[in-house]
Amino acid sequence: MTQAKTSAKRNPSVIVIGAGMTGILMTIQLRRAGIEDITVLEKKDKVGGTWRENTYPGVACDVPAHMYTYSFEPNPGWSNFFARGGEIQDYFERVADKYDVNRSIKFNEAVTDARYHAGRWTVQTSQGKTYHADFVVCATGILHHPAFPDIEGLSDFGGTQFHTAQWNHDVKIGKGTKVGVIGTGSTAAQAIPELINSGADVTIFQRTPQWLLPVADYAVPKWMKRLLLRSPMLVKAHRAFSIMFMEHLFTKAVTGHWPQKKILEWACKLNLRFSIKNKALREKLTPNYQVGCKRVIVNTTFYKAIQKHNAHLTTEAIEKITKEGVLTKDGTLHKLDVLVLSTGFNPFNFMRPMNLIGREDLHIENAWAKQIKAYRSMMLPNYPNFFLMLGPNTPIGNFSVIAMSEVQGNYVLKMIDKWRAGEFDEVEAKPEAIAEFNAYVKKGLKGTAWVGGCQSWYLDQDGDPILWPYTWKQWVKEMREPQMAHMKTASFSSASDEAAA
Ligand code: NAP
Repeated sequence: MTQAKTSAKRNPSVIVIGAGMTGILMTIQLRRAGIEDITVLEKKDKVGGTWRENTYPGVACDVPAHMYTYSFEPNPGWSNFFARGGEIQDYFERVADKYDVNRSIKFNEAVTDARYHAGRWTVQTSQGKTYHADFVVCATGILHHPAFPDIEGLSDFGGTQFHTAQWNHDVKIGKGTKVGVIGTGSTAAQAIPELINSGADVTIFQRTPQWLLPVADYAVPKWMKRLLLRSPMLVKAHRAFSIMFMEHLFTKAVTGHWPQKKILEWACKLNLRFSIKNKALREKLTPNYQVGCKRVIVNTTFYKAIQKHNAHLTTEAIEKITKEGVLTKDGTLHKLDVLVLSTGFNPFNFMRPMNLIGREDLHIENAWAKQIKAYRSMMLPNYPNFFLMLGPNTPIGNFSVIAMSEVQGNYVLKMIDKWRAGEFDEVEAKPEAIAEFNAYVKKGLKGTAWVGGCQSWYLDQDGDPILWPYTWKQWVKEMREPQMAHMKTASFSSASDEAAA
């Protein structure tokens, strides 16, 4: 299992859970570091994660396409400024093929249990198989457990009903179909215009209006694609510019930087004022909380579509669902053929429902009973040699999660490299380090838009956003090197030792 300290590097075995964007990346990064003993356990029969699951009409990424790519695998061929879901899925499948990631993947094996004991992880899957490894990297993503609304009578509906993340493509939606959509988040803002444009009669049940930033999408003209294909430097420049734009405008705007905050605020307010002609409709669509409190929706199609004759915006609260449709509190029964639940996800599940069991039989449900937190979003006391990718307080929001995973992947590699050099056999975050990190994050959260008077999936059970409140640059800087003073390490060949500061 573990080897004696020698000058030769030892080779770890690594289990990566999930073959989505992060799992593919992690496999490539590990291989590049010379690590070959990798097992990727994927619950479905294909790579892709979020982009495999979400196939609703209009699904796209609202982060510029060239920014939403691996840094080492640019894609000059993106067809639009904002890539469509199917094209992103193709990209991940292509990258997985190119780097032969698939040879490490066990498909259709959901991890049910992962247990740590004496320097070794034992992982069990839905196929009844058992795997062992020195390290576990949990690349299970954030938004992958659909949230179903707690509305009376939901199961009584007699038509067809589905969540946006489980779109039923067998159902024909077109002229005359009566469709109801519950929810007006980022997903709904992309799907609703498609439904309306199909000619269906669409009723939108809005509980809370959202702020929309109008960044126009465009189809990349052929000449530009040719230019990008010939000039990798241009693709790099495009990506660098997008990152700079997101960092210096968007991220700063929502983390309390005054000029950027004002620019974003005005852009959203003017968008609403000039896009929606009808005053009554505009009032219904006007949020009563700070811009950026909920994730800003980057979209130019929703406001146009919602003003069409076959769109009906309802702000009356839902009383219950009946066999025929949705009954709102004003007594109106909205008769429907199809009910779409665009009600988001449970973001706090992370790797759960798997049974993750650390030192001394500590179950993750108990470790996280009071607070769902992790050291630098990745490491947990009592869970040695375990890394959670895109965990709580990663700078999610409107930034590219790919860039975040790359930074976290490098952090994992640096930690594993220390193991390979024989510096320790097991490593975990100290409890006091996690407390210190949380206090540091909490301090920064005070000035952010996320505590600006709204409810959102960003907020945990204590009302604290699970985001990173400082700049992207700051995060990258802090993630560059593991701070070993925050780690508890042990070597089995000698007595347990605390790492030197
Ligand atoms: P969401 O932002 O959480 O929105 C859920 C919507 O459902 C909200 O409008 C919410 O209303 C409503 N809702 C929930 N329960 C309800 C109930 N019981 N009755 C009435 N309304 C209810 O979910 P999402 O739109 O799926 O987006 C989630 C996240 O996915 C986004 O924030 C984003 O991070 C990501 N996403 C990204 C993209 C992209 O382009 N990159 C696209 C889609 C999604 P309230 O606001 O009142 O709670």
